[in-house]
Amino acid sequence: MSSSTLSAGDPIEARCTKCREITNHTIIAMTDAGPAKVQCNTCSGQHKYRKPAAPRKTAARRTVDPKIAERKEWENLRPSMNSKQAITYSMTTAFKANSLMEHPEYGLGFVQRSVGPQKIEVLFEDGLKTMRCK
Ligand SMILES: [Zn+2]
Repeated sequence: MSSSTLSAGDPIEARCTKCREITNHTIIAMTDAGPAKVQCNTCSGQHKYRKPAAPRKTAARRTVDPKIAERKEWENLRPSMNSKQAITYSMTTAFKANSLMEHPEYGLGFVQRSVGPQKIEVLFEDGLKTMRCK
């Protein structure tokens, strides 16, 4: 049995589709699985119940997927990459920004920048990765 003792008319926190944030709602309709429909106490809008935990996913879907952006960037850079200039990756090799590396697993990569001591960000066909270097 569900431990939920909610019923229609009860207050509940939910993600409001209009306010685009977690607001106090009132349950309008219940199902066995939980609240089905709620009314926002802030904007009075009625909508399906969304768990307050859901917004992170929703927000991620609305923004551009970083993977897609990285892939685009890779495709833009790829024609200008000369794989003959790529330095084979090793943790004991120093890499400069804007240089090319050849990684045994990820293949050709473009060193974008240093992101800390002995750390570089490298764009591979697979996406951006943080690598150790000298
Ligand atoms: Zn609202």
